[in-house]
Amino acid sequence: MAVYIVLLGPPGAGKGTQAQLIAQKYGLMHVSSGDLFRENLKNETELGKLAQTFMQRGELVPDDVTIAMVRERLGRPDCQKGALLDGFPRTPTQAQALAQMLQEFNAAVSVVPYIAVPEEVLVERLSGRWTCRKNGHVFHEKYNPPTAVGVCDYDGSELYQRDDDLPATVKNRIKVYQEQTAPLIQYYRENGLLVEVDGTKPIDQVTNALLQAIEKAA
Ligand code: ADP
Ligand code: ADP
Repeated sequence: MAVYIVLLGPPGAGKGTQAQLIAQKYGLMHVSSGDLFRENLKNETELGKLAQTFMQRGELVPDDVTIAMVRERLGRPDCQKGALLDGFPRTPTQAQALAQMLQEFNAAVSVVPYIAVPEEVLVERLSGRWTCRKNGHVFHEKYNPPTAVGVCDYDGSELYQRDDDLPATVKNRIKVYQEQTAPLIQYYRENGLLVEVDGTKPIDQVTNALLQAIEKAA
C-alpha cells in the first residue's frame, strides 16, 4: 500500500532539509507545495502569477488553488508508491481535502512527524537559508554550509536567498503559521497520527528521530 507522510512544523523547522533525506531513503517522492509554487513562478504560469502576490506577503495561497495543485501532483505516476508531503496541508480545509483525495486512492496518511522548533530560532534559520535554483535543495550559511559558497552540492546550480526569507516577511509567515497551521497539530494528535520530534537538535539527529518515528508507525 502507498505510504503518505506529512511533515508538519513552522517555517524554518527543517521540513525541506529532512524531506530530502527521508524521501531518498524510502524512495518516496518529495512533494513540497512551496517548491511547486516557486516552479510555477519561474515558468510564469497563471498559477505562479496568482501565488506570487500571496507568497511575497508571507500569506497563504487560497485553499482551492493549493488543493487542486497538490491533487494533480499526487495523481501522477511517480507518486504511485506514495509521497512525503512538505508544506501541505497548512489549513484544516487542506487537511480534510488531503484525507478525501487519499481515500479516492484507497490510501490514508500514515504518520505526521511534527518538527518542533521555538519561534526565536526560526528567524535566524531563515535569514541564513540559501536555496538552490534548480531543485530547491536547502543550505544554511552557518548550520549546513555548501562545500563551495553559492553553489549547490547536489546539482551545481546557483544558491539564492528567497525574498520571503527577509525578517519582516518571516515574522508574518510565523504569525500565519500560528493562526492557520498550528491547529493541525491538535487535529493529527486526535487522529493518533502525530509524532513530535525535537527540531532544535543537529540535522542528523533530527533525521534519526524522524526515521525512528516513521518506522514505528509504518
Ligand atoms: P522548512 O522547510 O521547514 O522551512 P528548511 O529545511 O528549509 O525548513 O530549513 C530552514 C533553514 O534551517 C535552512 O537554512 C536549513 O539549512 C537550516 N536547518 C534545517 N535543519 C536544521 C537543524 N536541525 N539545525 C540547524 N539548522 C537547520
Ligand atoms: P517554508 O519552507 O518556509 O515553510 P514554503 O516554501 O513551504 O515555506 O512556502 C512558501 C510560501 O508558499 C508560503 O509562505 C505560502 O505563501 C505558499 N504556500 C506553500 N505551501 C502552501 C500551502 N499548503 N497553502 C497555502 N500556501 C502555501
